[in-house]
Amino acid sequence: MAPAVKPRTQFTLDVLRTEWLSPHMVRVVAGGPDLAKFTAKDATDMYVKIHFLLPDVVYPEPVDVFALRETMPREHWPVTRTYTVRWIDLEAQEMAIDFVVHGEAGLAGPWAAAAAPGDRIIFSGPGGAYKPNPDADWHLLIGDASALPAIAAALEALPATARGQVYLDLETAADIQPLDKPDGVELTWVFRNGLSRAGSTILRDAVANGPWPSGTVDAFVHGERECMKGLRDVLFKQHGLERSQVSISGYWAFGRTEDYFQAEKKQPVGKIL
Ligand SMILES: Cc1cc2nc3c(=O)[nH]c(=O)nc-3n(C[C@H](O)[C@H](O)[C@H](O)COP(=O)(O)OP(=O)(O)OC[C@H]3O[C@@H](n4cnc5c(N)ncnc54)[C@H](O)[C@@H]3O)c2cc1C
Repeated sequence: MAPAVKPRTQFTLDVLRTEWLSPHMVRVVAGGPDLAKFTAKDATDMYVKIHFLLPDVVYPEPVDVFALRETMPREHWPVTRTYTVRWIDLEAQEMAIDFVVHGEAGLAGPWAAAAAPGDRIIFSGPGGAYKPNPDADWHLLIGDASALPAIAAALEALPATARGQVYLDLETAADIQPLDKPDGVELTWVFRNGLSRAGSTILRDAVANGPWPSGTVDAFVHGERECMKGLRDVLFKQHGLERSQVSISGYWAFGRTEDYFQAEKKQPVGKIL
């Protein structure tokens, strides 16, 4: 019988290899025996919390992020970032995470851009709750690059006969990635080409003016928080969707670190619905 896993279990893996999928996205494949205690969720948006150690702090080895929260001051705690598991192979004890590389700012993006075999990655989890509803007549998947891994995983989980519309908001046409999808699923790419996300409606406009097949829809809508808010009217007013048909959330917020973005979830500005 597998050993019982502590509720807040951390996993420590080594980076095995990296692969640039596009100019703004790098895949980090990590692996190691710790994956033997990982229980995957039945969700295409399965995600983990990566714990980044602060460079100026000396941590007792082996690092136990939950134990050191009991002993170290809060400002020394590792910093957490949330990432979708793009794929996991428990037999091979490997998992892949696709990181948006969004410039110099932040921790996770720059870390991934520079990641090399042998680097350590510590995470906990998983979370995640969405998978395409097999009873829906069609599927609507909307997101920016941060949700591309979850959308790609959802597309791979659809049966060959599935129908749907996908809207992906990327920096440039060079960021397009080949997606494995049923023939009945149509892709619309929206490119920013340098346009700021602040106050931008290009994703919202694409969905508002795009095709809307008949029948019941199952929607997965995730990405920059204010862009997601802009889609509320399209989904709930223009098309009259029920809340239960839509998985919607902000994955990040323009101009905010994840710490700030997570803290804002408790305030009106941080709420999508
Ligand atoms: C459930 C869930 C799953 C997610 N899955 C993924 C995933 O698979 N891949 C992925 O790349 N991201 C994913 N994200 C988003 C990711 O957690 C955030 O983008 C996070 O803020 C990145 O951390 P950072 O240290 O690079 O930047 P931070 O330190 O958090 O932020 C620094 C600055 O960079 C900006 N910034 C942050 N993210 C982006 C971005 N994507 N594009 C442009 N500017 C940005 C911030 O607004 C801020 O100004 C997911 C988020 C959630 C909640």
